[in-house]
Amino acid sequence: RATWVSNVQTPSQKVEKIAVLGAGTMGAGIAQAAAFSGFDVVLKDINDELVAGGRARIEKLMRSAAKKGVLSAPAAEERLARIQYTTSIDDLTDADLVIEAIVEKLNVKQDVFSELDKQLSPRAVLASNTSALSIEQIGSATKHPERVAGLHFFNPVYKMPLVEVVRSPATGDAAIRVLVDVVRQLGKVPLVVGEGPGFLVNRVLFPYMDEAVRMVSEGAEVTAIDRAAKKFGMPMGPLELLDVVGLDVARHVADTIGSLSPEPSPTPEFLQRLIDQGHLGKKSGRGFYLWK
Ligand code: NAD
Repeated sequence: RATWVSNVQTPSQKVEKIAVLGAGTMGAGIAQAAAFSGFDVVLKDINDELVAGGRARIEKLMRSAAKKGVLSAPAAEERLARIQYTTSIDDLTDADLVIEAIVEKLNVKQDVFSELDKQLSPRAVLASNTSALSIEQIGSATKHPERVAGLHFFNPVYKMPLVEVVRSPATGDAAIRVLVDVVRQLGKVPLVVGEGPGFLVNRVLFPYMDEAVRMVSEGAEVTAIDRAAKKFGMPMGPLELLDVVGLDVARHVADTIGSLSPEPSPTPEFLQRLIDQGHLGKKSGRGFYLWK
């Protein structure tokens, strides 16, 4: 069940500091959006190199926003100074909200949530940017599942206005109120949705991308499919979109949502063959297209 929210009560808790876990495609985008909107941010990844990669992307995004006149150059620098970069969970302990954007694997996310649950005050809200995993199962790794919810951003974060706020059967109203309020402060549109494979958007979107991959596996041309979709009015073709999402990320989503389809799909295996060759899409320079 999806609810457009116009009357969610103002939260009693105020969020000032947001911790973001994972400095990859989504984590860097979320951290940039949060700092842009005036939150204090701490961004964590597992090593200095990955943190530096996220930092470079954030600085590029913020400075290009300044070049486009979205904010002044001094304001961009002030926002950048709001972001702390770290590899240590100790720097997250005073965050009011954690947004996790790490690898799409249930057991890894469960380990991280269990650790966060122990380290952070029980008042902090813990959110996952998972595309398709169960928030209830992620929350079950904690002692406070009422403060665990999904906060599903779309790529690229600075451009996409919709954010799904995912409520599991265990999520409390207080956490939902905090998240709806934060999404609004980010200048975005919150959509509260229930648990279910793919939530709302990916449940609609994936069958479309799945059919495109099926056609490629049957011999259709990548560019012909994408050109047709664009002429039809889509901003991007389905295969270009898969490259932007990342084929590895898409594979996990396809596995989860594939269970909804009555017919077995060739998509997970097809994507895996590309992944095995290091073709992860735009981020690795090659997917269905060459990006360099
Ligand atoms: P990514 O591979 O670009 O980045 C993930 C990052 O998390 C990596 O830098 C990795 O080193 C880091 N990481 C792994 N374990 C960590 C830990 N314990 N602590 C801190 N950092 C850790 O992945 P992504 O595309 O940004 O996806 C992240 C999440 O967002 C996934 O759950 C994915 O399903 C979801 N998502 C992705 C998209 C998309 O378009 N790519 C869209 C919506 C949601």
